[in-house]
Amino acid sequence: MHNEKHMRPIPYGRQNITESDIQAVVETLQSDFLTQGPKVAEFELAFARYVGARYAVAVSNGTAALHLCAMALGVNENSRVITTPITFVASANCVRYCGGTVEFADIDPATALIDIGQVRRMLEGKPKGYYSGIIPVDFAGNPVNLEVLRALADEHGLWIIEDAAHAPGGFFVDSQGERQFCGNGRYADMAIFSFHPVKHIATSEGGMVTTNDEELYRKLLLYRTHGITRDPAFMEENHGGWYMEMQALGYNYRIPDMLCALGITQLARADEGMARRREIAKVYDEAFAGAAGIEVLGTNPSAITESGETGHAYHLYVIQVADRKGLYNFLREHNIFAQVHYIPAHTMPYYRSLGYKKGDFPKAERYYEACLSLPMYPTLTNEEQQYVIEKVKGFCKA
Ligand SMILES: *Cc1c(COP(=O)(O)O)cnc(C)c1O
Repeated sequence: MHNEKHMRPIPYGRQNITESDIQAVVETLQSDFLTQGPKVAEFELAFARYVGARYAVAVSNGTAALHLCAMALGVNENSRVITTPITFVASANCVRYCGGTVEFADIDPATALIDIGQVRRMLEGKPKGYYSGIIPVDFAGNPVNLEVLRALADEHGLWIIEDAAHAPGGFFVDSQGERQFCGNGRYADMAIFSFHPVKHIATSEGGMVTTNDEELYRKLLLYRTHGITRDPAFMEENHGGWYMEMQALGYNYRIPDMLCALGITQLARADEGMARRREIAKVYDEAFAGAAGIEVLGTNPSAITESGETGHAYHLYVIQVADRKGLYNFLREHNIFAQVHYIPAHTMPYYRSLGYKKGDFPKAERYYEACLSLPMYPTLTNEEQQYVIEKVKGFCKA
């Protein structure tokens, strides 16, 4: 039997730091470079290979990654960008950093992903050129079908930034039957990832942009470090070995070498972590199948292969229940720290100050009322998971 008093708290997500991670950080601390050293490019190369993209640019966090993408795509005061209200606010905020306007499209209640049909109606209701781009989010690790979205974006001349913070290792199956991994740059212009400890790969703070477009890649490199280049091939003048040029207004969004060293060893275990997440999801799925009062958030059908394999990356495992607040509080009393993802962005006071209001996106709001993310991380033990299941079912039956 589980002794509740002495058990460790069970969060909804947590990092997994091993001895090899610690060794890698210590070695980098003892090396010549704490930042701007060789670990950055090494991490970028490994990550680009992992997701199948040509280029990767490592940055200080996922929000900085989004900001750099918006800058590289030229978002400004005249830009209107569509995203989903069911996301972490950073997906929308990056547009505001550049002075652009955020417009939300409601979700598909079956998956809580942006409703592509709704996006189509928004685009068709406006003249061409009205919207500049779209930021789809692979929410919970559930991949958006970017092939379909790309076709729509091309019809209307839009760019796509894929917010894949939840989905490294996730994939959908395209119309040719090929697996398209999140962030591979095949359909989106750029994709972003986050290495916050609750995400799949933890560097404490950290982020990545991936792209297949060389011009965008060059801009990302420039904007990541003050808009300064030291590459003579891209300079207007050259006064000597010391010379560098500030060519645009950039930021310091660099990530230190220690964190990249950690990212490299974390990435080496990413497949293992993904397999474990999918295993955990399967156990939850089976436990909740047919359970009265518990609805499991669906996987995008595009993310399931013919043989039934899933491309869902399971950053989160989301259920929906009528008494969500009751369940949340009940689980806390039993040392289980489930979480709510997300409070719809348009209902935040900041976005309300821009004119949005409750009632604008009823599907997102209805989803929010019922959603709860259960513990999902590779080091969750089978015993802990059974305990979670028992408590959730116990509450919902009562
Ligand atoms: C975590 C997250 C981000 C931001 O990443 P940070 O590294 O925390 O800045 C952006 N979008 C989504 C969907 C996220 O979950």
